[in-house]
Amino acid sequence: MTNQTDAASKAGAVIIPVTLFQQNCMLLWEEATKKAVVIDPGGDVPQIQAAIAQAGVTVEQIWLTHGHIDHVGGADELRDLLKVKITGPHIADRFFLERVEESGTKYGMTGMRNFVPDRWLEEGERVSIGELSFDILHCPGHSPGSVVYFNKAMRFAHVGDVLFNGSVGRSDIPGGDHLTLIKSITDKLLPLGDDVGFICGHGPGSSIGQERKTNPFLTGAM
Ligand SMILES: [Zn+2]
Ligand SMILES: [Zn+2]
Repeated sequence: MTNQTDAASKAGAVIIPVTLFQQNCMLLWEEATKKAVVIDPGGDVPQIQAAIAQAGVTVEQIWLTHGHIDHVGGADELRDLLKVKITGPHIADRFFLERVEESGTKYGMTGMRNFVPDRWLEEGERVSIGELSFDILHCPGHSPGSVVYFNKAMRFAHVGDVLFNGSVGRSDIPGGDHLTLIKSITDKLLPLGDDVGFICGHGPGSSIGQERKTNPFLTGAM
């Protein structure tokens, strides 16, 4: 558990790196009510539970950015433990969720379960935790069903593995396509505005402006 961050004064957040992929599981809450959401519980569920207890928040939902094992491996277990619902990703990632156990075995991860979320997400939909509201952007390319959660008021986005600090998501996993990914970033993320900060699935976050100006995949350097 590291990186106590503040998405905005109305919200609190902590990043919990989980699995051998050091995936940024995010616990995000509304300060006023302590209502919280866990985004991408990829595994190491006891660590996630410890972070929830330490933050003193009440988790009401689980949100998923996409179907890859490091993002969803602990989702079904956490859903059962917390008695909450799973929202996302887009239904185009269903085939990953039907193979969670199988791909977990491949990486030596135990206790992973296949599952179906309670709600699939579509472009233009909205989800909220307390009064914190997030717009859904469907951003295929890294995976066909990747979604980005964007809070306009807080100028904050959770971009999953679509965009990284200095890089972009890989597109060599089944269902991935590099040109589609670049189009998703160019058409949907860059227009959000340079001032929008983001958390991504691995490593440090960044801002849209920083990436627009310096990310080699966006400047044409690569
Ligand atoms: Zn991924
Ligand atoms: Zn990932």
